[in-house]
Amino acid sequence: MRDLNGLIAGLLRDMATAQTSTQSKWGYKRAAAAVRELEESIETRLLLDGTLRKIAHVGPASTRIIMEVLATGASSTVEAAVAASPKRSDVEKSRLLREAFLSRAQVIAALADPGLDGPTLAQYRGDLQMHSEWSDGSQTLDDICQTGIKRGYAYAAVTDHSYGLPIAGGVSMASLAEQHRDIDRLNAAYDGTFRLLKGIEANIRADGSVDMTLDELRQMEIVVAAPHSVLRSPVAQTGRMIAAVSTPGIHILGHPRGRMYGSRPGVSADWAAVFEAAERFGVAVEIDGDPARQDLDFELAELAMRAGCLFALDSDAHATGEWRHAETAIAHARLAGIPAERVINCWPLERLLDWTRSQTLAHTT
Ligand SMILES: [Zn+2]
Repeated sequence: MRDLNGLIAGLLRDMATAQTSTQSKWGYKRAAAAVRELEESIETRLLLDGTLRKIAHVGPASTRIIMEVLATGASSTVEAAVAASPKRSDVEKSRLLREAFLSRAQVIAALADPGLDGPTLAQYRGDLQMHSEWSDGSQTLDDICQTGIKRGYAYAAVTDHSYGLPIAGGVSMASLAEQHRDIDRLNAAYDGTFRLLKGIEANIRADGSVDMTLDELRQMEIVVAAPHSVLRSPVAQTGRMIAAVSTPGIHILGHPRGRMYGSRPGVSADWAAVFEAAERFGVAVEIDGDPARQDLDFELAELAMRAGCLFALDSDAHATGEWRHAETAIAHARLAGIPAERVINCWPLERLLDWTRSQTLAHTT
């Protein structure tokens, strides 16, 4: 699958890395982000006179690089700058960490492609990873209800960080009790229109244990458990991830690798074995649609599908402007050919709640 926008965005980031002035670094970075976020393939912006239709936040220096790539498929300007830069090895490392990421244009193409099986945006009923101002997000619980309704969803899970992750504003159990009262009040107000789920993003520690007790997890309607440490080690952590999915009270394995676009490889593991365990313990694996995460991506998701896993496709939104990141997750699921039936976000609310309750009970008796 050819992704010119992704290729160009990567080269502009390499160019940013090779700059010495903060200002030009910032200019190339901003241009890279703008190209990655374009809704259409950049070729369609070529005008008849051979110039490029203006892209917001892309200046003349970046435009010259884009034109070079459109003409030759590569950029000698970028390659020369990188070769002369003391940051050359950083660029080389970064290039290896951009595999299987989709640009926004590819996301839109995958959503519209009738040749792909898999869930459609219309089948998607609610987002199951979402942060509010109670932890490190900026959206209020009411913003979540309003935005969910606007997008035609039936539900959303509020999954702020757990107390084990103070760096991300992890919420105490006392605050959660308060949050649950607010959720009850909002659910009563939006009754029949929209439903908030009491959730949490628990932290998977380095040894595979989760930072909350079973009693605490059972106070939640839905639990996402995700790794936030030891995300750069090349040593396989299969045992850690299997321990996590076999923990009672867990529903979703969130951003399973914890990788970051161009900068962090994330957990390495025998993923076939991890997915087999997830299937056995009935834990859904997440496709986190944050553009910098895209974790799982379509390649690993296909492996999880063959293992028989359930999937959660989530935005991981921290602000109302980030809800469309769910579309990135849906695009990966479509590229992997995951049937909508296996996607818990495509289930009606009652079925979803029956499943989360039975998951919790199965592990506690
Ligand atoms: Zn997380």
